[in-house]
Amino acid sequence: MTDTPITLAELDRYPLTSLTALASKPKKIAGLAEMGIESVFDLLTDYPRRYLDRTRQAAIGDLLPGDEAMVIASVSRISSRRTRGRPPKVLVTAEVTDGTGYLRISFFNQGWRERQLPVGTEAVFFGKVEIFGGRRQLSNPVVDLIGGDRTGRIVPLYAQSEKHRITTWEIGSWVEAALGKCQRRGLAEPLPAAVRSRFDLLDRTASLVGIHRPESMGEMSAARKRLVFDELLRVQLALVMRKKALEATTRGITHVGSGELVERFHQRLPFPLTAAQQRVVSEISRDLTGPHPMHRLLQGDVGAGKTVVAASALLTAVEGGHQGALMAPTEVLAEQHHSSLVAMLEGLSVPGDAEEGSLFEGLTSERPLRVALLTNRTPAAQRRKLAVELADGTVDLLVGTHALIEDTVTFRSLGVVVIDEQHRFGVEQRAALRSKGADGTTPDVLVMTATPIPRTAAMTVYGDLDVSVLDELPPGRTPIETRWVRTTGDDAETESVVWDHVRTQVAAGRQAYVVCPLVEESDKLEARSAEETLDRLAGGELSGLRLGLLHGRVSAVDKEATMAAFRRGELDVLVATTVIEVGVDVPNATVMVILDADRFGIAQLHQLRGRVGRGVHASTCWLVGGGNTPDGQARLEAMVRTTDGFELAEVDLDLRGEGTLMGERQKGRNDLKLASLRRDRVWVERAREVAFELVGEDPDLGHHPELRSEVAMFMGDEDADFLLKS
Ligand code: ADP
Ligand code: MG
Repeated sequence: MTDTPITLAELDRYPLTSLTALASKPKKIAGLAEMGIESVFDLLTDYPRRYLDRTRQAAIGDLLPGDEAMVIASVSRISSRRTRGRPPKVLVTAEVTDGTGYLRISFFNQGWRERQLPVGTEAVFFGKVEIFGGRRQLSNPVVDLIGGDRTGRIVPLYAQSEKHRITTWEIGSWVEAALGKCQRRGLAEPLPAAVRSRFDLLDRTASLVGIHRPESMGEMSAARKRLVFDELLRVQLALVMRKKALEATTRGITHVGSGELVERFHQRLPFPLTAAQQRVVSEISRDLTGPHPMHRLLQGDVGAGKTVVAASALLTAVEGGHQGALMAPTEVLAEQHHSSLVAMLEGLSVPGDAEEGSLFEGLTSERPLRVALLTNRTPAAQRRKLAVELADGTVDLLVGTHALIEDTVTFRSLGVVVIDEQHRFGVEQRAALRSKGADGTTPDVLVMTATPIPRTAAMTVYGDLDVSVLDELPPGRTPIETRWVRTTGDDAETESVVWDHVRTQVAAGRQAYVVCPLVEESDKLEARSAEETLDRLAGGELSGLRLGLLHGRVSAVDKEATMAAFRRGELDVLVATTVIEVGVDVPNATVMVILDADRFGIAQLHQLRGRVGRGVHASTCWLVGGGNTPDGQARLEAMVRTTDGFELAEVDLDLRGEGTLMGERQKGRNDLKLASLRRDRVWVERAREVAFELVGEDPDLGHHPELRSEVAMFMGDEDADFLLKS
């Protein structure tokens, strides 16, 4: 009975006490539990963080400046001191030797290194050799303590825990014991042989041995490749199954119509659609006229013209006798969408019954298209009226904030929902919207995001949605010049160049935004910082100009009044917090000044910059601040280098890692232990391709029980119930 190969689920049922080496060590077991390792499965997927490849070990005597070096050496001297300068830093310096020479090691702000590396300690140091004070040194190297006499050419190094007194060697020996236990029966192989041979993948047993006990770095990479594929495939299977299940269990609306209304809308626009807009409009239209509910993500850079695409989708619903809704994350945005839709759709009429009591009552005729707005600020009386008009269908399109999805809002027949700026909406909110369809139908949903994400990240994070990309900006945009004014450091510049530029532009009739330092987690402090900036500028650099103030604590009425004044050109400069991040569209504004720019994330900087460059005049974006951290510096450099949102998104992913991205959507166990959405881009695509093939032939993976149970194992319970209840 126990001769069948071992499945992952079975490994996960084995407690650590089933390993003889751990059976009588409750303290170690408790420590491991705190490190997230509770079963034999957890242990085997606690992959080495790094490998010590002795074939690449260098002798200190041979090191040259610029080398990426790995040395094994013992500490001969170590001390720490505080540096002068503000803020003071702790500087730990050590001298290490391997018998062929001495090397200086320095650590900044890592005071604990002195305790970690007492004289005599043997350790591995990885880093880049530089020259300091005429001597070779590694600064802030990666350090791994070794000890005992390790042999073997490739030594796996595991994340260890000083707190729990668990060393990399102990983990290594337990892993080895666990691998030994698996040897006789071997591990079950869930991947079809054809897939394995197509991508030249090792089998699972070999890959687990190869990642933990490689004979060579080549063997390790081959093992990693297989394990990465497994991780990505499980994610893709879950997403593709969810996608297919939604298609199978929901009834969509087949939008019918001649396309004449959308055609008329396009004719009336003062510009032709870009090729990208045409392509995306037809992708959406294909979804809408099909029987399955649309579930599509529209990605497009700032200014790519998503509104026209959204309006086309909404009008398709109206043409077929349904209604459309557009949901935005903030009131300011909802109001802006409302007014731009009203302007864009002005003069369009739709087939409709004539007014009751009129001469033409009972006859079909044309009536003007009606677009309404619903936010938390809509007065109760108007809300009640609106409720009636939504229920009887006299309102065709509703724009609003999440007030839209409240229970009291009932549509006569909701056909298409557009959700702007998806990242601020939860999955539940989208589900609530979907449930507003009439007669058990599910409205078509288009999610728009102005924060581009790299393709493979989109496949992983939004893999249950179809994706359309607006990858072309409308013509006639004037490029934005971006300049970084470094206000700290050795070559610090002064801000005056920025304010001179603002004054020149205002004198030429243009307008400017000044974005104040970001104060995370505190509206109040952020508001104060904006007020202080306004006072400083009004009394100094920008005195005499007409300044307006906008921040999260300004009342909605004042906010709107200020925006309107700025739009009409009655204010020269708008001093604001990130409330202007999205949606604000004033073509006459040509200067964007971002203070303390290194504190903002790339996506945010890109959004902010997108507020200018919207008109015929050349625009400038000033990033003011120091590159106080390497990441901050890298962000600002990237901003100066490119205005391409997709390129910036790649940089962002490189800097932040995928953790943040995945965190938003993956509720279950984090399955990406080895895979990196950056390094393993091509494997994301391959996994997705295979997932579509497998699920296409076998929607609930009934013929692939092992894969199916692995997918279930890695999903949150909710998802597992949903997908696997069949
Ligand atoms: P997004 O929402 O993608 O940031 P918008 O839909 O707000 O972009 O469009 C930005 C600006 O470009 C608007 O002023 C819009 O009228 C204009 N626009 C949209 N499509 C085109 C086009 N095909 N040609 C010229 N201008 C366009
Ligand atoms: Mg927009």
